[in-house]
Amino acid sequence: KRIITTDILEEDISSEKNLRPQTLEQYIGQEKAKENLKVYIEAAKQRGDTLDHVLFYGPPGLGKTTLAGIIANEMGVNIKITSGPAIEKPGEMAAILNNLQEGDVLFVDEIHRLNRQVEEVLYPAMEDYAIDIVIGKGASARSIRLDLPKFTLVGATTRAGLLTAPLRDRFGVVHHLEFYTEKELQTIIMRSADVLNVEIDPQGAAELAKRSRGTPRLANRLLKRVRDFAQVRYDGKITGEVASFALDLLEVDSCGLDQTDRRILYTMTEKFMGRPVGLDTLAAAIGEDAGTIEEVYEPFLIKNGFIMRTPRGRVVTDLTYQHLGIEKEETK
Ligand code: ADP
Repeated sequence: KRIITTDILEEDISSEKNLRPQTLEQYIGQEKAKENLKVYIEAAKQRGDTLDHVLFYGPPGLGKTTLAGIIANEMGVNIKITSGPAIEKPGEMAAILNNLQEGDVLFVDEIHRLNRQVEEVLYPAMEDYAIDIVIGKGASARSIRLDLPKFTLVGATTRAGLLTAPLRDRFGVVHHLEFYTEKELQTIIMRSADVLNVEIDPQGAAELAKRSRGTPRLANRLLKRVRDFAQVRYDGKITGEVASFALDLLEVDSCGLDQTDRRILYTMTEKFMGRPVGLDTLAAAIGEDAGTIEEVYEPFLIKNGFIMRTPRGRVVTDLTYQHLGIEKEETK
């Protein structure tokens, strides 16, 4: 398992709960989303109304689930958490909706993975707080409408493009979550260290922040791994030096790239000599699945300027040569 994956790992589960900020105040970064939510929450509370349905989209580990929890907390209501792939039948969705209390937040992670029939239950639920149930079969079938308590649907997706238009249109508030700056991650790491009772200095936090790929989930995971090193090899305190040493051992480099990232870049610069290469060719050369490269590895490399997509294929950039310490051959 990749340590720098932004997917949730077994080792994250126990600590994520404690590390989650509970209020907008404690939630670092995403200023625009936070500012807007603050206003909407305040307004809804003043009216004694529920909050409009909210959609968060953006890469994993950036705080979508956390924000859903904060919304429920700030509104003073309960949250029920489920996910697109977990609900297979329309009846299951109807049951979940029917069991909500007035004002509750229903959080649906990976909402783009709801199947069509389940999704259709959500349309009247979101719009009119009602579900339509069909009774009987054939010619005698009729539909009756069941009222639901007013609730707030908070949807999260990593792939906003995969959402159907009717679903997307039913969200009143839509926010894109951004990668975090190093400064923000440093603050998050200092706070997490405090919660976990780990001694860390600002340099230690900065070193971790630099290698966390803009992602709080990753920052927290690396913090815990580095804490173990600090405890066993040093006196327990995470300094810049300790963090740097531990992260080198974990093979997370100064830009947050891991072995596979570097293998991709080395293959492109050396084997293909920096010439444009197609996804399938690249995949075959490094023995990875093309889809995995495209969805897991490449986005970070492209976003950070290591790889560019051109009509003739993927190419590495000058930054890649610099980062790998490889001399660029000019005679191409
Ligand atoms: P997502 O739902 O987008 O995959 P999560 O909400 O599960 O991400 O966040 C992953 C972890 O990162 C959480 O344990 C949380 O502690 C931390 N985290 C995310 N965003 C923030 C933030 N803005 N401030 C502090 N910690 C955060």
